[in-house]
Amino acid sequence: MAGPLFIAQVSTPDPTSPSDILLIALVVCAVGALALVAWVLPVVLGIRAAIEKRVSPHWMWFGIHPLGGWIAWAVLRFGIPPVVRCPRCARTNPREARFCPRCGTALASRRA
Ligand SMILES: [Zn+2]
Repeated sequence: MAGPLFIAQVSTPDPTSPSDILLIALVVCAVGALALVAWVLPVVLGIRAAIEKRVSPHWMWFGIHPLGGWIAWAVLRFGIPPVVRCPRCARTNPREARFCPRCGTALASRRA
C-alpha cells in the first residue's frame, strides 16, 4: 500500500518518468562504451602492430586523442615496412633480408 502511494507522491509534472531516465542512462552507457572501444581499440591494435614491427609502442601515446590512435595505428600497420631483428646484434633489418648487414648472421624468416 505504501509503495505505490510513495511513487505517486514523488511523481512531479516533469515529463521524464523514472523509466525514461533509465532508458537515457542505458543509451548514454551504450554510447560511452562504444566510444571507449573506438578509442581503446586502435591503441591495443597499434601496440600489437608496433611490437610485431619492432617499433616503439610509445608511438601509441598519440592514442590519447581518439583520432590520433587510429592515425598512429594506420601508420604503424600500413606505413612501416615489416622488419626482422638480428638475434645477435639486435639490428633491425628488412624482413626480406636473409643476412644481417652488420654482423652477417643468418636471419630466420618467420614466414619460412
Ligand atoms: Zn646482426
